[in-house]
Amino acid sequence: MQNPSPIVIGCGPAGLMAAETLARAGYAAHCFDAMPSVGRKFLMAGKSGLNLSHAETLENFLQRYGDARPRLEACIRAFSPDDLRAWAAGLGIATFVGSSGRIFPEGMKAAPLLRAWRARLRQQGVQFHMRHRWQGWQGEQLVFDTPEGERRFRGNAVLLALGGASWSKLGSDGAWAQTLAEKKIPLAPFRPANCGFDVAWSEHFRERCAGLPVKNVSAACPNFPPRRGDFVITLHGVEGSLIYALSAPLRDALERDGNAALTLDLLPDVASERLIAELGRPRGRDSLANHLRRRAGLTGVKAQLLYECLPPETLRDAARLATRVKRLQIPIQRPRPLDEAISTAGGVPFTALNESLMLTRLPGVFCAGEMLDWEAPTGGYLLTACLATGKAAGMGMAGWLRQGTGDR
Ligand SMILES: Cc1cc2nc3c(=O)[nH]c(=O)nc-3n(C[C@H](O)[C@H](O)[C@H](O)COP(=O)(O)OP(=O)(O)OC[C@H]3O[C@@H](n4cnc5c(N)ncnc54)[C@H](O)[C@@H]3O)c2cc1C
Repeated sequence: MQNPSPIVIGCGPAGLMAAETLARAGYAAHCFDAMPSVGRKFLMAGKSGLNLSHAETLENFLQRYGDARPRLEACIRAFSPDDLRAWAAGLGIATFVGSSGRIFPEGMKAAPLLRAWRARLRQQGVQFHMRHRWQGWQGEQLVFDTPEGERRFRGNAVLLALGGASWSKLGSDGAWAQTLAEKKIPLAPFRPANCGFDVAWSEHFRERCAGLPVKNVSAACPNFPPRRGDFVITLHGVEGSLIYALSAPLRDALERDGNAALTLDLLPDVASERLIAELGRPRGRDSLANHLRRRAGLTGVKAQLLYECLPPETLRDAARLATRVKRLQIPIQRPRPLDEAISTAGGVPFTALNESLMLTRLPGVFCAGEMLDWEAPTGGYLLTACLATGKAAGMGMAGWLRQGTGDR
């Protein structure tokens, strides 16, 4: 292979969608990835149930992208959650809407979809080159590190879909940031998104409760309304879907104020007045644990959280205890390390890109997926935006090639 054209680097969902879009436009891409196989993070996402997208009004859907909405809106309107479902169906993968509105493939796994997708891409003429780690440019040439040594290719149009900077063992290590910084592309620093947090648990609590789920609570934090769900106590602190939902405002509060607290309502279905009345009943010879269980149904990890977070005088005072059950503050220390986050914010800012997702400083170089500077909660919003930007960048690149501007 001498001078493949066009080139896609990064074979996660964004890169594969870009390659598919290019193929449909008549440009069979050569796709490169550092890993031995495609879509490793996508496969990992399927381990706990692949949440492809979310069924809700498009307006609500778009709101989930916060500040990045204006730049992502056109991409998502052109590849909406409905389009995504039709696309999956075209690969022979039926989807369904779960009770929470989340859209999953039948079987919940990523592997069948990825297998069908890769086979279709091959039929479309797309060629894959695995174990090719992109190192940057040498003049006009793209330089790859491979098991056979260094290889160089000249691509007249290049689409980068290199992912964020978490779960580096699956390929997305964020090392590309250095390469783009050397090309004077202004990058937003990587920040953990959808991440867990450290909490200074006591040794006693950690031993008893690490690994236990805390179910059906309501959680809130500064500048964020209360939200219902579940989370998990870990050796280091807290993680899980409810924590991920609050992770951006918690992270921002830590950065801004140096401290932040998670405020929990341990019994969101019980009114404060009723709880005060129940816990205020005479305890007699009952232990506190029995009293909490009999009067409020508080047992297990929820009761342990009270013992862990409240001073003895509050535990002894029924009214103050009831108030704290409804408003338990857990001081948060810091986000877990970047590499553990489900996704990362930061990367290539939209201001560095034109409408076609091409780097204005590097004509012919397009970017897509999580490497762009946006963030969204879990719930299928991540994959939808990765696929949508992959499609938009693929279309942008096809337009660029059609106009002949690809002949640099
Ligand atoms: C545990 C987990 C569960 C998740 N669950 C969900 C979910 O249910 N729903 C959802 O919407 N999202 C989920 N996500 C997030 C989602 O998987 C990612 O947002 C998505 O995979 C990002 O797609 P991408 O194509 O932009 O990047 P990636 O999937 O990260 O792909 C980037 C590719 O680029 C390659 N690469 C990087 N650097 C180089 C280089 N220098 N040279 C060559 N190749 C390189 C990598 O090897 C990788 O294959 C989950 C993430 C994790 C970690």
